[in-house]
Amino acid sequence: MQWYIMRRLGCSFVLVLLAACGPAGVSRSPFPAVLASATPQVPTLTQSPESLVLKTPFTPLFDGVRAMQVAATQMQWVPRDTGSPGWQHTGDYIIRQLRQSGWQITEQRFPYRGITCRNILAQRGSGPLLLLGAHYDSRRQADHDPDPNKQHEPVPAANDGASGVAVLLELARVVRPEAFGRTVQLAFLDAEDDGDLDGWEWTVGSNYLATHLAVRPVAVVILDMIGDTNLDVYYESNSTPALRESVWAAAARQGFTQFIPREKYGMLDDHSPFLAQGIPAVDVIDFDYPPWHTTGDTLDKISATSLAIVGQTMELWLNSGGVL
Ligand SMILES: [Zn+2]
Repeated sequence: MQWYIMRRLGCSFVLVLLAACGPAGVSRSPFPAVLASATPQVPTLTQSPESLVLKTPFTPLFDGVRAMQVAATQMQWVPRDTGSPGWQHTGDYIIRQLRQSGWQITEQRFPYRGITCRNILAQRGSGPLLLLGAHYDSRRQADHDPDPNKQHEPVPAANDGASGVAVLLELARVVRPEAFGRTVQLAFLDAEDDGDLDGWEWTVGSNYLATHLAVRPVAVVILDMIGDTNLDVYYESNSTPALRESVWAAAARQGFTQFIPREKYGMLDDHSPFLAQGIPAVDVIDFDYPPWHTTGDTLDKISATSLAIVGQTMELWLNSGGVL
């Protein structure tokens, strides 16, 4: 991703551009009071079907400890940059986990700079499509490392890669879209994070997906860098306002004050290609993360609690049909 900071200096705005980033099934319906009779033709999420209003207190099933284990599993393969053996292992692991959870899987392969990239898409349910995405590749050079001797080493990417995948795979274990009248697609996106290295672009996988959609989503939520032990998730300024309000409302409903409804950063991230297609999209990202794009982005910097806060927020948001 690319990172834009806007700072007000006197009465003028200065735009600074910095190179940047980028389980066992549950057989019962976890939310019996959430009726599944949403009208499939609902074209946008501006309509709130009465049938999708949660009638009982929400009891999340998302397990932060399990998500942490998914992150740890990925961290045995460093690096995981596009085309590397670790990247191949990670993609294969994602598919195995999704199969165990009973999702329908599509591998979307496409060429980029001599490499066959791979987006991995998992789908369940019926009705309007909600798409949740996270990149699974890691950055091949830690070009922001404070030690110049380490700037050509790979980023281990516990937060900037593994955390988003961990939340998506744990959601795959606990979410049952059949219960709430939506199609849910989980998108494990390739080639997000080698931008500006040897002429590579950012968000290559999401750009391919957004321009080769079989079905147009009504909403896209991207999770990126959401495992920081010191979690603070601000509004991302390019995101669709109504959509980000609904996600932050899902956090507030559960008392998660780590979601802060104020703008702080503007990102060019995996949500951007969808915005370019006119599709509502939000980037859920905590960019206050000192080890970003350094060799210090390691497993000890992320926590099960942070993964649970984001995961349970998305679990409630999904079970509300994306309308809160
Ligand atoms: Zn990154």
